[in-house]
Amino acid sequence: MLTRSVSCILVGLVFLLVAGGCKQPESELREKLYVFGTIVEITIRDSDKATARAALKDVGSEFRHMHKDWHAWKPGELSSLNAAIAAGKSVQVSDFLLPLLLQAQRYERTSDGLFNAAIGGLVADWGFHDDNLPKGRAPPYEAIRAWVASRPKVADLVIKGHEVSSRNKDVSLDFGGFAKGEALDRAVIRLKAHGIRNAVLNAGGDLNVMGVHSDRPWRAGIRHPKNWGVIATVELKPGEVLYTSGNYERFLEHEGVRYSHIIDPRTGWPVKHIVSASVIGTSGADADAAATALSVAGPEDWFRIAKRMGVRYAMLVDDHGRIYLNPAMKARIHLKDEENSVVTLSPRLF
Ligand code: ADP
Ligand code: MG
Repeated sequence: MLTRSVSCILVGLVFLLVAGGCKQPESELREKLYVFGTIVEITIRDSDKATARAALKDVGSEFRHMHKDWHAWKPGELSSLNAAIAAGKSVQVSDFLLPLLLQAQRYERTSDGLFNAAIGGLVADWGFHDDNLPKGRAPPYEAIRAWVASRPKVADLVIKGHEVSSRNKDVSLDFGGFAKGEALDRAVIRLKAHGIRNAVLNAGGDLNVMGVHSDRPWRAGIRHPKNWGVIATVELKPGEVLYTSGNYERFLEHEGVRYSHIIDPRTGWPVKHIVSASVIGTSGADADAAATALSVAGPEDWFRIAKRMGVRYAMLVDDHGRIYLNPAMKARIHLKDEENSVVTLSPRLF
């Protein structure tokens, strides 16, 4: 026992000497977790490894819960709710699912219905209820027209306490437009509860940051929607998030045409004009939903929807590579190729 504590002190001393003589090695732990078909890479800094590992274990188990019960097409609580709605029945939902229904209703209201989480039937018709990229052709026109005519929306849900039913049987909930953001927000809460202060959570370019990188803020790149490079970089403040929606990863390709997985609920057709929309905010779920809604809104309407949704920083890139920014976003980001970029500023509405 005595020998052990003496050697511990020695190790401690050696460490102090080394630390005094050169720069202390940074403590950084990086781990990959998985949720909703996406790999989430979590980097934790300045925390002892045991604490970081315990925190990540907790996050991992919550991700598994979400993956099961918020999944739009695999068996779990959400798909049971969808089945009940289709059968015209009402069900009791858990405390885990209920807040997402209310959140989805809020996004639908503030986006003027462009963000519509009742869109599951249409997303399935377009082949996106699959972990792999869909193959084949667009759904029959009649199916699209029938969905649009039925106008399913999250506002059709009747929520009384935990009891949920729907006025419209075609409502099929799909939280793909904001669940990733919600997952990262909840992961941040878990990490904080374990005392972690500096971390970055990266779900394929969608980021939540905690604290700082070191003596500098976390830096992030916004991916170029067409060439896989970086179109812009930005420094994120503690607690900020950066979310991008785009059609460059998940799409249906048929006879040379790419159909995005972001669908305009007004027409039933995937959005064409916008290839990516990025939002900086302080809530992952809100930024994720907003980025999806701005993609639907397009170049004519994005700033109106952004304002309604409380977005402070937004950037869109269209099919021709044109960039749309609000002035506050322009002041924050560093465009990689500023001279050759065609930039349109939004009217100074926000
Ligand atoms: P990503 O998953 O690439 O980050 P998004 O956040 O934009 O992209 O989410 C796209 C997903 O949102 C689709 O796969 C689908 O599940 C869902 N979705 C598609 N169109 C809409 C819409 N108009 N409103 C709400 N959710 C949508
Ligand atoms: Mg989204």
